[in-house]
Amino acid sequence: MLKEFFIGLSQNQFLNAAAQKYGLQLGAQSVVAGTDIHEAIETIKELNKSGISATVDNLGEFVHDREEATAAKNQILGVVEAIHEAGVDAHISLKASQLGLDIDYHFALSNLREIVGAAAKYDMFVNIDMEDYGRLQPSFDILDELSKDYGNVGTVIQAYFHRAEDDIRDYKDYRLRIVKGAYKEPANVAYTEKEEIDRNFIKLIEYHLLHGKFTSVATHDHHIIGHVKKFAEENNIPRDKFEFQMLYGFRRDMQHELASEGYNFTTYVPFGKDWYGYFMRRLAERPQNLNLVAKQVFTPKTNGVIALAAGAFLLGRMSKRR
Ligand SMILES: Cc1cc2nc3c(=O)[nH]c(=O)nc-3n(C[C@H](O)[C@H](O)[C@H](O)COP(=O)(O)OP(=O)(O)OC[C@H]3O[C@@H](n4cnc5c(N)ncnc54)[C@H](O)[C@@H]3O)c2cc1C
Repeated sequence: MLKEFFIGLSQNQFLNAAAQKYGLQLGAQSVVAGTDIHEAIETIKELNKSGISATVDNLGEFVHDREEATAAKNQILGVVEAIHEAGVDAHISLKASQLGLDIDYHFALSNLREIVGAAAKYDMFVNIDMEDYGRLQPSFDILDELSKDYGNVGTVIQAYFHRAEDDIRDYKDYRLRIVKGAYKEPANVAYTEKEEIDRNFIKLIEYHLLHGKFTSVATHDHHIIGHVKKFAEENNIPRDKFEFQMLYGFRRDMQHELASEGYNFTTYVPFGKDWYGYFMRRLAERPQNLNLVAKQVFTPKTNGVIALAAGAFLLGRMSKRR
């Protein structure tokens, strides 16, 4: 119920637009590394000091026209340059929809090609984050096209999809991030029970550790992390064949602990004005993440935003009833 509620909120474009005007609010600042690249670079420098690498997401949602997609492309090209100029240990994460996938496949492909080409000059990896089911196959198609020319690109396998096992076999020669999956998907395409998702998650990770190129195990779940450590040891998987990834702001102690134990570790560092949808998906994942909001929510500064959100909700409900 709560998951659906927050996923619903994450898709509310009115609230997204309102949130852009207000800057980071409602606790988002603890999981989003600022609204501009300079703030993100400072965060990355701090992480690097602890031996932690970063994957940088210049947040962007609801891209409906070519101008917005072109602006997103230019911003990400700026992030590639900023990472290179600062000499930090970081790479890029992006979403195909941000670059125009919902407008025109070939337009998105050419935007991605430009970014992957620019990053290739600096030997910088680009990860195509995976979104909802409707965008899954086109995102794989883009990856197929780009990998004809570039080796610095990979993607994400979402363990909740029934097809994930086939996908991981098809893409075993790629650097892959493996996750549980963050969107609300129907039972005809995805596992919906936690146990089934976890079981498949472990199966996919083990397969890629044994047969794949490089595995990014992206989870905050200490059960899974413990299992992976043991599996890697028992199967003599070299440490340079895999890493752990977590999101910025989550389980900071564990992030530093894993890095200090000598595991490769990458923190996913999101930044930008478009923080709202990302933040709502984090709230959808785990009710306890609401703590982030609770700490911030009852300040005079945020009251305006809450009132606006409540108003937008009511309007949304009224217009649906009509
Ligand atoms: C780096 C990264 C990149 C991602 N990229 C994508 C993507 O491209 N596409 C996509 O669909 N999804 C992505 N996700 C999101 C992912 O799919 C999951 O929705 C998300 O990670 C929540 O699942 P989980 O594996 O972390 O553990 P959960 O299933 O949320 O938690 C399992 C258990 O772990 C413990 N736990 C979890 N979080 C905490 C915490 N903060 N503090 C203490 N204990 C905790 C609890 O015991 C909990 O019951 C990404 C996640 C990460 C970390």
